[in-house]
Amino acid sequence: MSTQHYPRIGLLIDGEWIRGGARQTQAVINPATGEQLGEVPIATPDDIDRAADAASRAFPAWRRMPAIERAAVLQRIALAIRRHEERLATILTLEQGKRLTESLHEIRNTADTFEWMAEEGKRAYGRIVPARTPDTDQYVRLEPVGPVAAFSPWNFPAVLSSRKVATALAAGCPVVLKPAEETPGIMVAIAELCTEAGLLPGVLNLLYGVPATVSSRLIASPHIRKISFTGSVAVGHQLAAQAGASGKRITLELGGHAPVIVMDDVDVDRVIELTVAAKFRNAGQLCICPTRFYVHEAVHDRFAAQLTVQASKMRIGNGLDPAVDMGPLANERRVHAMRGFCDDAQARGARIQAGGHAPTDSQAGFFWTPTVITDIAEDAQAMTNEPFGPLALLCRFQRLEDALARANALDVGLAAYAFTRSLRAAHQIEHGLEAGNVSINTYATSAPEMPFAGIKNSGLGAEMGIEGLREHMHSKSVVRAIA
Ligand code: NAD
Repeated sequence: MSTQHYPRIGLLIDGEWIRGGARQTQAVINPATGEQLGEVPIATPDDIDRAADAASRAFPAWRRMPAIERAAVLQRIALAIRRHEERLATILTLEQGKRLTESLHEIRNTADTFEWMAEEGKRAYGRIVPARTPDTDQYVRLEPVGPVAAFSPWNFPAVLSSRKVATALAAGCPVVLKPAEETPGIMVAIAELCTEAGLLPGVLNLLYGVPATVSSRLIASPHIRKISFTGSVAVGHQLAAQAGASGKRITLELGGHAPVIVMDDVDVDRVIELTVAAKFRNAGQLCICPTRFYVHEAVHDRFAAQLTVQASKMRIGNGLDPAVDMGPLANERRVHAMRGFCDDAQARGARIQAGGHAPTDSQAGFFWTPTVITDIAEDAQAMTNEPFGPLALLCRFQRLEDALARANALDVGLAAYAFTRSLRAAHQIEHGLEAGNVSINTYATSAPEMPFAGIKNSGLGAEMGIEGLREHMHSKSVVRAIA
C-alpha cells in the first residue's frame, strides 16, 4: 500500500462522515519524506456542538444495551482491526513514521485493548451491602457517567485513542474523540471499522480541528460528563482547570521522564540489548521512554561504550523500509527540540558519544540520530524537561540511595526501570521509586489488564485495567425497602 491509499480524512458526527465542504483544512505530512498525505478538515464550532449533542442523544440507547451485547460489538471491532492489521499498520507508519513492525505491534495492541475492555465491561459488578433495617436491601450499582470528550496524541495514535474509546464504550458511554491532527488517518480507518462492526450512530464521534478550540468547547458543553486527555503536562493541567470549572471528571495521562537504575551486578550485554530496543522505539517518542540512566560506576563505562556502539550502528530512515532500525521524529518541532537539548547539554559540559545531530546525508523528513550523552549535568534541560526523542542520558552513581534520590528528583512520575540481580536492591527500588509504573529487569510496562497511571505531575486517575473502567462509571447507592 502506498500514499494514494491513505484514507481521506473526515469528521464523523452522528454516524455521518463529513469530508470536504467549506471547512478550512490542515495538511497531513509524512514525517519520513515531508510529502503531503492528505488534508484534515478543521471542525467548526457548529461541528463541535453537533458532535456533543449526537453523543448525548446516543447515550440512552447505548447505556441500555446489555453489557454482553456491547461486548459483542467491541469484539467485532477487535476482529476487524486484526483482519485489517497490515493496512492499518501501513497508514500508521505513513503518518507517524514508526517502523512497520512497530506499527503492526501497536495495531495488535489496539485490538487487544478492544478485546479486553469487551470482556471487562461484562464484569462491571456492583455490590450488595448488608442493610441496617429489616426487609430492606441496599446495594451499589455501577452506571456509566455519560458522554466522554477524549483527546489523544500523535505518538501512539491508534492504541492511545483506542484505550479511551474502548473503555468508554465498554462502560456504556458514548465518545467524542479528537485525535491529533498530525496523525488523523489511523482513527479514521478504525472508526470506519467501528461503524461496519455495528456501532450505533453518535456512539463514536470523531473531530479534528484547532485543539484548544475543540477542547474548551467540548469541556464546557453540558452534554459532556467526563474528559480524558493524553499529552503534555502543560496542556493536561489547562484542561483539568477547565474541567474543574465545570465540575467534570477528568483522567490525565501526561508526560514522564523515566529513570533507569542499572546496578553493578547486571549482565551488561543483556541490559544493553533490551535498552537499545526500548530507548529508540518510536524514535524515543514515548511517555514511558527510558531516558535518565543512573548506572553504577563499576559498570558505567562498559555500559556507555556498548550503548554508543549500538546506537551508532543504527540505520535511520523511512519506517516502511524493513532494513531501517529507527524512523523519523513526528514533526519539525521535535527536531528543533532535540537540537536545543543537545546544544544545551554540551554547553554545560556533557559529552555526546553518539549522534547528537540530524543525519548528514540529505534525507528529507524529520530525522535525528540515535544519541548517547554522558557526563550530563543534573540541571541540563534534557535532564529536567522530557526530551521525547532518541536521547539516552547517562549518569554515574555509587550508592543506591543516591540513585533513588536523583531518580525521584523531578516533579513527574510515570515510568521507572531498574536492573539488578539482587532481591534486596529490587525490593528497595520497587518501594523507593516514585512512579506509577515500575519495571524491574524488563522494559515491559502497560498491558490492557494493568492500570496505567502516573503520579505527581504525570497524571490523574488511571487508564485501562479495572481501574480505568471504573473511572467511566459512578456508584449509585440504592436502598429499597418493602412497602
Ligand atoms: P502538545 O502539548 O502541544 O501536544 C500534545 C497533544 O495534545 C497533541 O496531540 C495536541 O494536539 C494536543 N493538544 C495540544 N493542545 C491542546 C488543547 N488545548 N486541547 C486539547 N488537546 C491539545 O505537545 P507536542 O509538541 O505535540 O508534543 C510534545 C510534548 O507532548 C512532549 O514533550 C511530551 O511531553 C508530550 N506528549 C506526551 C504524550 C504522552 O503519551 N503522554 C504524547 C504526546 C506528547
